[in-house]
Amino acid sequence: MKKRVAILGSTGSIGTQALEVIQAQPQAFEVEVLTAHSNADLLIAQAIAFQPNVVVITKDELYDQVRAALEPYPIKVYAGMNAVNGVVQMDSVDMVLTAMVGYAGLQPTIKAIEAGKAIALANKETLVVAGQLITDLARQKGVNIYPVDSEHSAIFQCLAGEFHNPIEKIILTASGGPFRGRDRAYLQTVTKAQALKHPNWDMGAKITIDSASLMNKGLEVIEAKWLFGLRNDQIEVVVHPQSIVHSLVQFEDGSLKAQMGLPDMKLPIQYALNYPNRLKADFPRFNFLHYPQLTFEQPDVETFQNLGLAFAAMERGGNAPCVLNAANEVAVAAFLREEIGFLEMSDLISDCLAKVAYIAKPSLEDYVQTDQEARQVAFSLMQA
Ligand code: NDP
Ligand code: MG
Repeated sequence: MKKRVAILGSTGSIGTQALEVIQAQPQAFEVEVLTAHSNADLLIAQAIAFQPNVVVITKDELYDQVRAALEPYPIKVYAGMNAVNGVVQMDSVDMVLTAMVGYAGLQPTIKAIEAGKAIALANKETLVVAGQLITDLARQKGVNIYPVDSEHSAIFQCLAGEFHNPIEKIILTASGGPFRGRDRAYLQTVTKAQALKHPNWDMGAKITIDSASLMNKGLEVIEAKWLFGLRNDQIEVVVHPQSIVHSLVQFEDGSLKAQMGLPDMKLPIQYALNYPNRLKADFPRFNFLHYPQLTFEQPDVETFQNLGLAFAAMERGGNAPCVLNAANEVAVAAFLREEIGFLEMSDLISDCLAKVAYIAKPSLEDYVQTDQEARQVAFSLMQA
C-alpha cells in the first residue's frame, strides 16, 4: 500500500524537496493533496506532474487561474485556508506534511490531528505557538508527530531502539549562520542580501533570516521540548559551523549518540514520511576525509539576543512563546521589506514580550487572540 500524502506548502523549499523524494520513491508514496499560497504557476505544474486528488490555493484571487489551468484534469481545485482545514481530514489522506511557513500552520495541523492523520512536521512554528495543546491533542488522538527539521530528525534517529531509555539531555547543533563571529557593531548595518546568504542550507526566506539571527535555534529549542517531552534544563545548543553533526542525545549512562550526514533536507523528509523504515536513496554521501575538522563552540548569546529571548519565553511558558513567534514573524517580514535593521528585530520581540498580557494556561482561542494582539503591538511599536 502506498502512503497517500498531503503536502501543505508544496511550492516552498521543503515542499518541493518532498516532491523530489516522492518522485524518486513512487512505490512508497502517492500525492493526494497539494496546497500553495501565492505561487499559482508552480502549483499548477506540480499538479499536472503528480496528479493529486485535490489542490488548494490559499490566496483566493488566484483560484480562477488554477482552476482554469487544471480544467482538463480530474483534479479538484479549492481556495482559502478553510479548504486546507477541510482537505487534511479526507479519508484518502494517510499523512500530512506541514511545510507551510509560520503561524498559518497551526489550524490545519490541529484539524489533521483531530482527524487522526499522522503528521510529518516541518512547520516548527506550530509547536512554538501551542506545543502543549498540540502534543496533548496528539496523545489523546493517538497521532504520531514525526519531525522533519534536521536537528529533531537527528534526535529521533538517535532514539530509535531507545524509547524506554530516559534522555539525560539533548544537544541541538546550530551552524551559526552567515554572521557567526561578528559583533553587534557589524550587525548594526548588515543588509537583507547578506542575511539571506546561508552558509550551508538553501531554505525559504523566513527561516533563512531566523538562522542568521539565531531565532531559528530558539524556535527549535521550544520545538524539541514538545516533540521529546523534555524539561527546559535538558536542552543545550552548540554552534557547529560545518552542519555535519545534525544533533545529539545523551543518555543516563553518559553515552552520547549523534546523527551525521551532509546538509540535505531530503533525508529527514524521507525518514519522516517512511518511518520506521529507511528507503534506499542516492542522497550524497558524507566522507570524513573531506571534513578533517569538525568544530564546536558556544553560541554568542550577547550578540545574538534572540536565542536568549526564546529560552526566556520557554521558561515563562503559557502564551509567551506565542508572543515570541508572532513578534518574530512581524520583525522578519519588516526586515525583509527593509523597514527595520537586523538588531531591531530582537528589540521588537523583547518589547512585545514585555507588553502583551500573559496567560498561564491558554486555550486555542487565547492563542489566536495572543497572536493577533502581539502582531498589533509589534506594528504599533514599529510606528512609534
Ligand atoms: P518557504 O517559504 O520556502 O515555503 C513556504 C510554503 O508555505 C510555500 O509553499 C508557500 O506558498 C506557503 N505559504 C506561505 N505563506 C502561507 C500562508 N499564509 N498560508 C498558507 N501557506 C503559505 O518555506 P520553507 O519550505 O523554507 O519552510 C517551511 C516550514 O518548514 C517553515 O516552518 C520552516 O521553519 C520549516 N523548515 C524548513 C527547512 C528548510 O530547509 N527550508 C528546514 C527545517 C524546517 P507560496 O510559495 O505558493 O506562496
Ligand atoms: Mg533545523
